Amino acid sequence: MTRTALVTGGSRGIGAAISKALKAEGYDVAATYAGNDEAAASFTEETGIKTYKWDVANYDSSKEGIAQVEGDLGPIDVVVANAGITRDAPFHKMTPEQWQQVIDTNLTGVFNTVHPIWPGMRERKFGRVIVISSLNGQKGQFAQTNYAATKAGDIGIVRSLAQEGARAGITANAICPGYVATEMVKAIPEKVRDAIVSQIPVGRLGEPEEIARCVTFLASDDAGFINGSTISANGAQFFG
Ligand code: NDP
Repeated sequence: MTRTALVTGGSRGIGAAISKALKAEGYDVAATYAGNDEAAASFTEETGIKTYKWDVANYDSSKEGIAQVEGDLGPIDVVVANAGITRDAPFHKMTPEQWQQVIDTNLTGVFNTVHPIWPGMRERKFGRVIVISSLNGQKGQFAQTNYAATKAGDIGIVRSLAQEGARAGITANAICPGYVATEMVKAIPEKVRDAIVSQIPVGRLGEPEEIARCVTFLASDDAGFINGSTISANGAQFFG
Protein backbone atom coordinates (compact mmCIF):
# COMPACT_ATOMS: atom_id res chain seq x y z
CA MET A 1 0.00 0.00 0.00
CA THR A 2 1.42 3.35 -1.04
CA ARG A 3 1.18 6.04 1.60
CA THR A 4 0.68 9.71 0.83
CA ALA A 5 2.79 12.47 2.36
CA LEU A 6 2.30 16.23 2.36
CA VAL A 7 5.29 18.52 2.94
CA THR A 8 4.58 22.22 3.39
CA GLY A 9 7.37 24.41 2.05
CA GLY A 10 8.47 21.23 0.32
CA SER A 11 9.88 22.82 -2.82
CA ARG A 12 13.01 24.45 -1.41
CA GLY A 13 15.64 24.03 1.30
CA ILE A 14 15.06 21.46 4.03
CA GLY A 15 11.53 20.81 2.76
CA ALA A 16 12.81 19.86 -0.70
CA ALA A 17 15.20 17.33 0.83
CA ILE A 18 12.31 15.93 2.90
CA SER A 19 10.04 15.64 -0.16
CA LYS A 20 12.75 13.82 -2.13
CA ALA A 21 13.61 11.47 0.73
CA LEU A 22 9.95 10.52 1.23
CA LYS A 23 9.56 9.91 -2.51
CA ALA A 24 12.67 7.71 -2.45
CA GLU A 25 11.02 5.70 0.38
CA GLY A 26 8.02 5.06 -1.88
CA TYR A 27 5.51 7.67 -0.66
CA ASP A 28 3.27 9.62 -3.01
CA VAL A 29 4.42 13.13 -2.16
CA ALA A 30 2.81 16.54 -2.49
CA ALA A 31 5.00 19.57 -1.82
CA THR A 32 3.55 23.01 -1.14
CA TYR A 33 5.04 26.46 -1.51
CA ALA A 34 4.01 30.08 -0.97
CA GLY A 35 4.79 32.03 -4.12
CA ASN A 36 8.13 31.16 -5.70
CA ASP A 37 6.66 29.62 -8.87
CA GLU A 38 10.03 29.36 -10.58
CA ALA A 39 11.63 27.30 -7.79
CA ALA A 40 8.53 25.10 -7.59
CA ALA A 41 8.48 24.48 -11.35
CA SER A 42 12.15 23.50 -11.48
CA PHE A 43 11.68 21.29 -8.39
CA THR A 44 8.84 19.44 -10.12
CA GLU A 45 10.86 19.13 -13.30
CA GLU A 46 13.84 17.73 -11.39
CA THR A 47 11.94 15.35 -9.12
CA GLY A 48 8.56 14.63 -10.66
CA ILE A 49 6.97 15.68 -7.34
CA LYS A 50 3.77 17.69 -7.78
CA THR A 51 3.70 21.12 -6.13
CA TYR A 52 0.72 23.07 -4.81
CA LYS A 53 0.61 26.76 -3.98
CA TRP A 54 -1.15 28.13 -0.93
CA ASP A 55 -0.38 30.29 2.09
CA VAL A 56 -0.20 28.15 5.23
CA ALA A 57 -1.17 31.23 7.24
CA ASN A 58 -4.66 31.11 5.72
CA TYR A 59 -6.98 28.40 7.09
CA ASP A 60 -9.44 28.34 4.18
CA SER A 61 -6.65 28.17 1.57
CA SER A 62 -4.99 25.35 3.50
CA LYS A 63 -8.25 23.42 3.75
CA GLU A 64 -8.99 23.84 0.05
CA GLY A 65 -5.42 22.96 -0.94
CA ILE A 66 -5.41 19.85 1.23
CA ALA A 67 -8.74 18.74 -0.26
CA GLN A 68 -7.17 19.11 -3.71
CA VAL A 69 -4.10 17.07 -2.71
CA GLU A 70 -6.30 14.34 -1.24
CA GLY A 71 -8.42 14.36 -4.40
CA ASP A 72 -5.29 13.91 -6.52
CA LEU A 73 -3.23 11.52 -4.39
CA GLY A 74 -5.59 10.04 -1.80
CA PRO A 75 -5.83 10.52 1.97
CA ILE A 76 -2.77 12.04 3.61
CA ASP A 77 -1.00 9.59 5.96
CA VAL A 78 2.07 11.69 6.74
CA VAL A 79 2.09 15.45 7.17
CA VAL A 80 5.32 17.40 7.53
CA ALA A 81 4.68 20.97 8.69
CA ASN A 82 7.92 22.51 7.49
CA ALA A 83 7.02 25.90 5.97
CA GLY A 84 8.57 28.66 8.02
CA ILE A 85 9.88 32.21 7.83
CA THR A 86 12.05 34.59 9.83
CA ARG A 87 11.51 38.31 10.37
CA ASP A 88 14.39 39.03 12.73
CA ALA A 89 14.79 42.18 14.81
CA PRO A 90 15.89 42.92 18.36
CA PHE A 91 12.80 43.06 20.55
CA HIS A 92 12.90 46.84 21.01
CA LYS A 93 12.83 47.29 17.24
CA MET A 94 10.44 44.47 16.34
CA THR A 95 7.24 45.70 14.73
CA PRO A 96 3.81 44.19 15.43
CA GLU A 97 3.79 43.20 11.72
CA GLN A 98 7.06 41.25 12.07
CA TRP A 99 5.67 39.54 15.17
CA GLN A 100 2.35 38.66 13.55
CA GLN A 101 3.73 37.39 10.20
CA VAL A 102 5.94 34.88 11.94
CA ILE A 103 3.19 33.76 14.34
CA ASP A 104 0.74 33.38 11.46
CA THR A 105 3.12 31.32 9.30
CA ASN A 106 5.14 29.23 11.75
CA LEU A 107 2.57 28.62 14.50
CA THR A 108 -0.95 29.14 13.16
CA GLY A 109 0.36 27.62 9.92
CA VAL A 110 0.91 24.34 11.75
CA PHE A 111 -2.69 24.39 13.05
CA ASN A 112 -3.96 25.24 9.55
CA THR A 113 -1.96 22.38 8.03
CA VAL A 114 -2.69 19.62 10.52
CA HIS A 115 -6.27 20.46 11.51
CA PRO A 116 -7.95 19.60 8.16
CA ILE A 117 -5.98 16.31 7.93
CA TRP A 118 -6.45 15.17 11.55
CA PRO A 119 -10.06 13.82 11.35
CA GLY A 120 -9.13 11.51 8.46
CA MET A 121 -6.11 10.20 10.32
CA ARG A 122 -8.31 9.48 13.36
CA GLU A 123 -10.85 7.66 11.21
CA ARG A 124 -8.23 5.54 9.44
CA LYS A 125 -6.38 4.87 12.71
CA PHE A 126 -3.01 5.87 11.30
CA GLY A 127 -1.09 9.09 10.97
CA ARG A 128 2.29 10.71 11.29
CA VAL A 129 2.52 14.41 12.16
CA ILE A 130 6.04 15.82 11.97
CA VAL A 131 6.70 19.48 12.70
CA ILE A 132 10.00 21.17 11.82
CA SER A 133 10.75 23.29 14.86
CA SER A 134 14.22 24.73 15.56
CA LEU A 135 17.18 24.82 17.90
CA ASN A 136 16.23 28.45 18.51
CA GLY A 137 12.82 27.37 19.78
CA GLN A 138 14.61 25.30 22.41
CA LYS A 139 17.16 27.87 23.55
CA GLY A 140 15.88 31.26 22.32
CA GLN A 141 17.95 33.54 20.10
CA PHE A 142 18.92 37.20 19.95
CA ALA A 143 16.58 39.10 17.58
CA GLN A 144 14.22 36.13 17.27
CA THR A 145 11.57 36.54 19.98
CA ASN A 146 8.89 36.00 17.34
CA TYR A 147 10.58 32.99 15.70
CA ALA A 148 11.63 31.36 18.99
CA ALA A 149 8.09 31.74 20.36
CA THR A 150 6.63 29.94 17.35
CA LYS A 151 9.20 27.16 17.37
CA ALA A 152 8.73 26.57 21.11
CA GLY A 153 4.98 26.60 20.44
CA ASP A 154 5.43 23.91 17.79
CA ILE A 155 6.86 21.64 20.50
CA GLY A 156 3.79 22.28 22.65
CA ILE A 157 1.56 21.40 19.71
CA VAL A 158 3.17 18.00 19.10
CA ARG A 159 3.23 17.10 22.79
CA SER A 160 -0.50 17.77 22.98
CA LEU A 161 -1.34 16.06 19.68
CA ALA A 162 0.70 13.04 20.75
CA GLN A 163 -1.62 12.57 23.73
CA GLU A 164 -4.78 13.15 21.68
CA GLY A 165 -3.76 10.89 18.80
CA ALA A 166 -2.03 8.03 20.58
CA ARG A 167 -5.08 5.75 20.82
CA ALA A 168 -5.92 6.47 17.18
CA GLY A 169 -2.55 5.24 15.89
CA ILE A 170 -1.25 8.74 15.24
CA THR A 171 2.15 9.99 16.33
CA ALA A 172 3.21 13.63 16.49
CA ASN A 173 6.85 14.64 16.84
CA ALA A 174 9.06 17.66 16.34
CA ILE A 175 12.51 17.94 14.83
CA CYS A 176 14.74 20.78 15.99
CA PRO A 177 17.46 21.40 13.41
CA GLY A 178 20.46 23.54 14.21
CA TYR A 179 22.05 25.56 11.41
CA VAL A 180 21.50 23.79 8.11
CA ALA A 181 23.17 24.59 4.79
CA THR A 182 20.13 25.89 2.91
CA GLU A 183 20.30 28.79 0.47
CA MET A 184 19.30 31.11 3.31
CA VAL A 185 22.26 30.11 5.45
CA LYS A 186 24.67 29.88 2.49
CA ALA A 187 23.76 33.49 1.63
CA ILE A 188 25.04 34.75 5.00
CA PRO A 189 28.36 36.60 4.51
CA GLU A 190 31.29 34.20 4.86
CA LYS A 191 32.67 35.90 7.98
CA VAL A 192 29.34 35.68 9.83
CA ARG A 193 28.85 32.10 8.66
CA ASP A 194 32.31 31.17 9.93
CA ALA A 195 31.40 32.67 13.31
CA ILE A 196 28.22 30.56 13.38
CA VAL A 197 30.10 27.40 12.42
CA SER A 198 32.72 28.05 15.10
CA GLN A 199 29.93 27.70 17.68
CA ILE A 200 28.91 24.28 16.40
CA PRO A 201 31.00 21.62 18.17
CA VAL A 202 30.92 19.29 15.18
CA GLY A 203 32.52 22.09 13.15
CA ARG A 204 30.14 22.24 10.20
CA LEU A 205 26.61 23.10 9.16
CA GLY A 206 24.00 20.36 8.94
CA GLU A 207 22.88 19.09 5.55
CA PRO A 208 19.18 19.19 4.57
CA GLU A 209 19.37 15.44 3.89
CA GLU A 210 20.31 14.83 7.54
CA ILE A 211 17.03 16.42 8.62
CA ALA A 212 15.18 14.51 5.90
CA ARG A 213 16.45 11.20 7.28
CA CYS A 214 14.99 12.06 10.71
CA VAL A 215 11.66 12.63 8.96
CA THR A 216 11.66 9.35 7.02
CA PHE A 217 12.40 7.50 10.24
CA LEU A 218 9.63 9.24 12.21
CA ALA A 219 7.22 8.56 9.35
CA SER A 220 7.99 4.83 9.30
CA ASP A 221 6.13 2.04 11.08
CA ASP A 222 9.31 1.41 13.10
CA ALA A 223 8.83 4.77 14.86
CA GLY A 224 5.36 3.98 16.22
CA PHE A 225 6.44 4.18 19.88
CA ILE A 226 8.11 7.57 19.42
CA ASN A 227 5.34 10.04 20.16
CA GLY A 228 5.48 13.59 21.47
CA SER A 229 9.26 13.63 21.13
CA THR A 230 11.65 16.31 20.04
CA ILE A 231 14.61 15.17 17.98
CA SER A 232 17.53 17.58 18.13
CA ALA A 233 19.82 17.58 15.09
CA ASN A 234 22.31 20.35 15.79
CA GLY A 235 25.89 19.03 15.83
CA ALA A 236 26.04 19.14 19.66
CA GLN A 237 25.27 22.86 19.85
CA PHE A 238 22.55 22.46 22.47
CA PHE A 239 21.11 19.62 24.54
CA GLY A 240 17.38 20.19 24.79
P1 NDP B 1 13.53 28.06 2.99
O1 NDP B 1 13.37 29.52 3.15
O2 NDP B 1 14.70 27.53 2.22
O3 NDP B 1 12.19 27.44 2.33
C1 NDP B 1 10.97 27.75 2.91
C2 NDP B 1 9.86 27.01 2.21
O4 NDP B 1 8.63 27.33 2.89
C3 NDP B 1 9.66 27.43 0.77
O5 NDP B 1 9.18 26.33 0.02
C4 NDP B 1 8.59 28.52 0.88
O6 NDP B 1 7.84 28.70 -0.32
C5 NDP B 1 7.72 27.91 1.97
N1 NDP B 1 6.91 28.91 2.68
C6 NDP B 1 7.32 30.01 3.35
N2 NDP B 1 6.26 30.70 3.82
C7 NDP B 1 5.16 30.01 3.44
C8 NDP B 1 3.77 30.22 3.58
N3 NDP B 1 3.27 31.28 4.25
N4 NDP B 1 2.91 29.32 3.03
C9 NDP B 1 3.39 28.26 2.34
N5 NDP B 1 4.69 27.99 2.19
C10 NDP B 1 5.57 28.86 2.71
O7 NDP B 1 13.50 27.47 4.47
P2 NDP B 1 14.43 26.36 5.16
O8 NDP B 1 14.50 25.15 4.34
O9 NDP B 1 15.69 27.01 5.62
O10 NDP B 1 13.57 26.06 6.49
C11 NDP B 1 12.54 25.07 6.51
C12 NDP B 1 12.04 24.93 7.93
O11 NDP B 1 13.13 24.55 8.77
C13 NDP B 1 11.48 26.23 8.52
O12 NDP B 1 10.37 25.95 9.32
C14 NDP B 1 12.63 26.76 9.35
O13 NDP B 1 12.18 27.56 10.39
C15 NDP B 1 13.23 25.45 9.86
N6 NDP B 1 14.62 25.55 10.26
C16 NDP B 1 15.60 25.92 9.36
C17 NDP B 1 16.93 25.99 9.76
C18 NDP B 1 18.03 26.34 8.81
O14 NDP B 1 19.19 26.44 9.27
N7 NDP B 1 17.79 26.51 7.52
C19 NDP B 1 17.31 25.70 11.16
C20 NDP B 1 16.21 25.31 12.01
C21 NDP B 1 14.93 25.25 11.57
P3 NDP B 1 8.42 29.66 -1.51
O15 NDP B 1 9.49 28.85 -2.20
O16 NDP B 1 7.24 29.93 -2.37
O17 NDP B 1 8.96 30.88 -0.85
